[in-house]
Amino acid sequence: SLSDRLSGVFDKLRGRGALSEDDVRGAMREVRVALLEADVALPVARDFVDQVTERAVGAEVIRSVTPGQMVVKIVNDALVEMLGAETAELHLDVNPPAVIMMVGLQGSGKTTTTAKLAKRLSERERKKVLMASLDVARPAAQEQLAVLGRQTNVDTLPIVPGQTPVQIAQRALQSAKLQAYDILLLDTAGRLHVDDQLMAEMKAVAAASNPVETLLVVDSLTGQDAVNVAKGFAGEVDLSGVILTRMDGDARGGAALSMRAVTGKPIKFAGTGEAIDALEAFHPSRVAGRILGMGDVVSLVERAAETVKIEDAEKLARKMEKGKFDLDDLRLQISQMQRMGGLGALANMLPGMKGMKGAANVDEKALTRLEAMMSSMTAKERQRPDIINAKRKIRIAKGSGTTVQEVNKLLKMHLEMSNAMKRLKKLGGFGKLASMFN
Ligand code: GDP
Ligand code: MG
Repeated sequence: SLSDRLSGVFDKLRGRGALSEDDVRGAMREVRVALLEADVALPVARDFVDQVTERAVGAEVIRSVTPGQMVVKIVNDALVEMLGAETAELHLDVNPPAVIMMVGLQGSGKTTTTAKLAKRLSERERKKVLMASLDVARPAAQEQLAVLGRQTNVDTLPIVPGQTPVQIAQRALQSAKLQAYDILLLDTAGRLHVDDQLMAEMKAVAAASNPVETLLVVDSLTGQDAVNVAKGFAGEVDLSGVILTRMDGDARGGAALSMRAVTGKPIKFAGTGEAIDALEAFHPSRVAGRILGMGDVVSLVERAAETVKIEDAEKLARKMEKGKFDLDDLRLQISQMQRMGGLGALANMLPGMKGMKGAANVDEKALTRLEAMMSSMTAKERQRPDIINAKRKIRIAKGSGTTVQEVNKLLKMHLEMSNAMKRLKKLGGFGKLASMFN
């Protein structure tokens, strides 16, 4: 597995700190093999690895995880992002009927998926749905959809022999309008391969029916082949999304990444079986886990990152509990605070400081300016802020490129913070705070 391979690469690396270019390149060779084993198309795998390498070099390794585990987490996050961070929805808010056109090769699962989607839309979303088969190439195709329609309680367009796909599409649209259907699903014909005739037919049907969604149905088990199919369709038809079928098979999910990369369109659903309700919203994070086969490592790193945050917060709390809180402390803690979501977030976590205006309004840029002001102070000024008189304030403002007003604000904030800390100490200290993190 990728886990074994990566631990091999990183056995010699016990260091901490940032990931070096060499660390990352070694790991990425293994990641590339894992992607190819998961059936990701070669050019897609190559592009992906290049992107992630750039992102990973220089990344900090979180305490208590290995560099290898850190790389896996970075790869995983990039995969999820590339697969589409969230579940993609259908866009059906148009003047009804909203036309959904299903395209794809023969045997990809178009007809089955059309019925699955129709059932989902009529049952879950309470839509009035009409299905029509435009497949005149295969004798039993239209009857197949009619059977599925009876099975799912979804209406199908009555079969009229001898019509062309475009004629059927026009008749379906007219019926849907007259009978006030919300949604019209068009199941188109497929071929064994992408060819000019098929594309001409898809374009003519699209022109006649003006679909809001044109969904490419692809068999996830066909792996590298699926990429060529997707390229063929994406170049000719205006796709709005992809449905991957047979995700219940031994597909390792690689087709999903390839489809997304090649079409640039979101994967909207996954077919997970022959049964009529075996259709699921596509979940990028689950599929990323499947591609890498590293779900455990990812959650391990997420937990470790949480722990580091908690440890930092506790350290800060202990320090402040000692009652000493000068501007040096404030300065030292700023970077930690930034990691914890800024001073405002920290202020809201501390009971005594909740709602304290000064701290809650500090944003990222302001933290940088605070740091500049404190750098312009002398060590003595930082330890004893009360000696900072008007003359010193002018000097500090000049030295830091800020204003006297801002220096005043900083001093006021520090005063409020140390007062809040004294109050807190009286209330029983930070024990309460620490327990909030557990
Ligand atoms: P079409 O030629 O594209 O219309 O494909 P069909 O809808 O007729 O499906 C071909 C075969 O694939 C049928 O036996 C379906 O039951 C099967 N099929 C479709 N989707 C899935 C799926 O998600 N999982 C599994 N296991 N089989 C599927
Ligand atoms: Mg079919």
